[in-house]
Amino acid sequence: STDRLFNFAAGPATLPENVLLKAQSELYNWRGAGMSVMEMSHRGKEFLSIIQKAESDLRKLLDISDDYAVLFLQGGATTQFASIPLNICKPEDPVDYIVTGSWGDKAYKEATKYCKPKVIWTGKPEKYTGLPVFDELDQSINARYLHICANETIHGVEFKDYPTVKNKDAVLVADMSSNFCSKPVDVSKFGIIYAGAQKNVGPSGVTIVIIRKDLIGHAQESTPVMLDYKIHADNNSLYNTPPCYGIYMCGLVFEDLLAQGGLVEVEKKNVKKAQILYDAIDGSGGFYRSPVEKSVRSLMNVPFTLEKAELEGEFVKEAAKEGMVQLKGHRSVGGMRASIYNAMPLAGVEKLVAFMKEFQAKHG
Ligand code: PMP
Repeated sequence: STDRLFNFAAGPATLPENVLLKAQSELYNWRGAGMSVMEMSHRGKEFLSIIQKAESDLRKLLDISDDYAVLFLQGGATTQFASIPLNICKPEDPVDYIVTGSWGDKAYKEATKYCKPKVIWTGKPEKYTGLPVFDELDQSINARYLHICANETIHGVEFKDYPTVKNKDAVLVADMSSNFCSKPVDVSKFGIIYAGAQKNVGPSGVTIVIIRKDLIGHAQESTPVMLDYKIHADNNSLYNTPPCYGIYMCGLVFEDLLAQGGLVEVEKKNVKKAQILYDAIDGSGGFYRSPVEKSVRSLMNVPFTLEKAELEGEFVKEAAKEGMVQLKGHRSVGGMRASIYNAMPLAGVEKLVAFMKEFQAKHG
């Protein structure tokens, strides 16, 4: 609608308009329950129906088999940086990390407290603009897992396929915070997939963990109950009070994604949006630049710079005047970044591209 902006924020991020309107219509009195979802007991039948539906819709979307548990947790993806080693490693266990940006680096650093992680590849010397050649990775023989960040939100580098873990007893673990449910994923390739909700599927406060069931139940003794996957799996994510309203919102988003035809259709839209934006950058004769190697450019987060860096402030300011906000790049890398998650309409990207052309015409 006309009073809403095109919000290119990296997260919390834009949500589908129809989902917001549905939530609004149900806010005061959820489906005749006489109260809002925020006021309900998490153990009542109404909320149970909400969380069960959210889980089963997510299972449909990603085609998640019964070999996996789906957990709705708190603490953000950042908490998972610790939960993962605590749950599936002993303190002396080696594990491998591929570091393709700031988030993979943070995950690695946290793991050093709970096991023996090794960075087997880092994109840092190239300023995190690429991915490794998988066959050349020097994986540790006894590593318990190989961790990747499937989409680096700040650097805009996205895995298009995934490395195979060398040790057959080890698993692949992926932080999918910023590309969760943006395309189909073969869940069976992973031991654990985790994601904060606040980019593609809901508000902040919900963290989704999809974990192969045999990995549950081996936590280090010192693991806090809130970080123990077994506690949450045994209690269907209701060990303590869950983030009820956020889970409800995620459920509405899952319904919406299914209604769009599922993730195959969603991916097509995301490819199209990213394509027109990258084309605009690449076709600008160097006025705009994408630092990321073409084959691994993210469909979700598009960082770009201006050849005339001194114009970046003006770009962001002028765009905001036209209703396109949050285009400033992350403070650690500068430049601009357009996050174009599932809920960013094509019209938002088209408007941005038109603006970029005008801006270039004025300053080029
Ligand atoms: N991983 C990635 C890829 C992220 O983008 C973020 C948040 N921007 C995080 C982890 C941290 O998530 P949270 O703030 O939910 O802890």
